[in-house]
Amino acid sequence: MLTASVWEKETYYAPRDFVIAGSGVVGLWTAYYLKKRFKRARILIAERGLIPSGASTRNAGFACIGSPTELLSDARKMGEQRMLEIVAMRYEGLRRIRKTFSAKEIGYEHHGGYELIAPGQYKKQKQLKNDVGWLNLTLRKAIREDKTFRLADKQIKSFGFGRTAHLVSAAAEAQLHSGLLVQALARKVQSMGVDILTGVEINSYERNGGRLILHSNLAVPLLTSQLIVCTNGFAKQLLPALDLQPVRGQVLVTAPIKNIPFKGAFHFDEGYYYFRNLGNRVLLGGARNKDLEAENSEEMITTPFIQEELERFLKTVILPGKKIQIEHRWSGIMAMGSEKMPIIRRVEKNVYCAVRMSGMGVALAPVIGDIVSRQVDEID
Ligand SMILES: Cc1cc2nc3c(=O)[nH]c(=O)nc-3n(C[C@H](O)[C@H](O)[C@H](O)COP(=O)(O)OP(=O)(O)OC[C@H]3O[C@@H](n4cnc5c(N)ncnc54)[C@H](O)[C@@H]3O)c2cc1C
Repeated sequence: MLTASVWEKETYYAPRDFVIAGSGVVGLWTAYYLKKRFKRARILIAERGLIPSGASTRNAGFACIGSPTELLSDARKMGEQRMLEIVAMRYEGLRRIRKTFSAKEIGYEHHGGYELIAPGQYKKQKQLKNDVGWLNLTLRKAIREDKTFRLADKQIKSFGFGRTAHLVSAAAEAQLHSGLLVQALARKVQSMGVDILTGVEINSYERNGGRLILHSNLAVPLLTSQLIVCTNGFAKQLLPALDLQPVRGQVLVTAPIKNIPFKGAFHFDEGYYYFRNLGNRVLLGGARNKDLEAENSEEMITTPFIQEELERFLKTVILPGKKIQIEHRWSGIMAMGSEKMPIIRRVEKNVYCAVRMSGMGVALAPVIGDIVSRQVDEID
């Protein structure tokens, strides 16, 4: 069996104050805030993939706080207060992303966001107006926006959408490049002294006095004082009791389109469908509500059923009458549960978790990382 050299034991495999499992946006922001709080802390992020391999580099790159019908549905299901709490975290998270990185570093583009309302979704325009009015008033309690949403029906024609009765705009919404964001974050925490080991899957842990021994695919056990599990959709591997369901999200990207008639981040049907321009291409994802059971999966594949549904939506609603080629398809795994609030807590002595980011983890991650960094024990 391969044994570690003394050099490796004193560097790569050295004992740590904190080991973070998972190098998605939550693991990276957690390292960032831990290092800000504990300047001398020895921190390692262990990532099982050769690159982050969950949702953070496989998502749609929306920098958003939620669309009107999604927030209305959340308020009904979670209660107004919980809906506002989660929106406030997303809003603050986006502010911190913008404060930490330049637009160029993370491919941030601000073209606004919109929700498409299908014919029949609202019987009368007045009802939609009332809902938007209520949301704007309610959201003022949580975020610094006077009018988060506005009716924008006039733009439907210029955007060229089919089967769309109404459009609601969200001026604050933006889009970013998910690969650039994760790379920039990784560079940032490494420059602060955090180590990242990729290809290391933490399989289990056991206690040894005040320390934890982490068992992984490495020949050498890793020692740490505290473990923070940021493995989101895969968290049940280490913490089987969590209320968490891995959920697949599928995406496609078209070939470049001449004179693309819109720019921005678009939502439909309580956030189940989402699309944006990616330069002069269209990135479209979602539709998992058409096959909920099959999409409750951690298998990172695309399926003909969901991809065909996305193509149908593309051809009938987004770009009706246009000949379009699909150039890319992929999927990522996120985490849902019986409610939308992320789980950020101490699991047992010296073990913490920050998981279950649902569908808007990009915006949530900075605040989640900050919260969990305040829950851990002080280091000596
Ligand atoms: C298709 C799709 C589109 C989305 N679109 C958006 C969007 O536009 N905007 C938005 O805000 N959110 C979006 N999301 C959600 C968002 O991407 C996630 O909420 C967010 O990335 C979660 O980050 P995370 O760090 O918690 O998890 P992840 O990014 O999944 O990171 C977890 C990491 O843990 C690693 N890991 C797993 N098990 C182990 C182990 N045992 N040991 C070590 N490492 C392990 C994984 O390889 C992975 O890299 C989307 C998600 C999907 C799937």
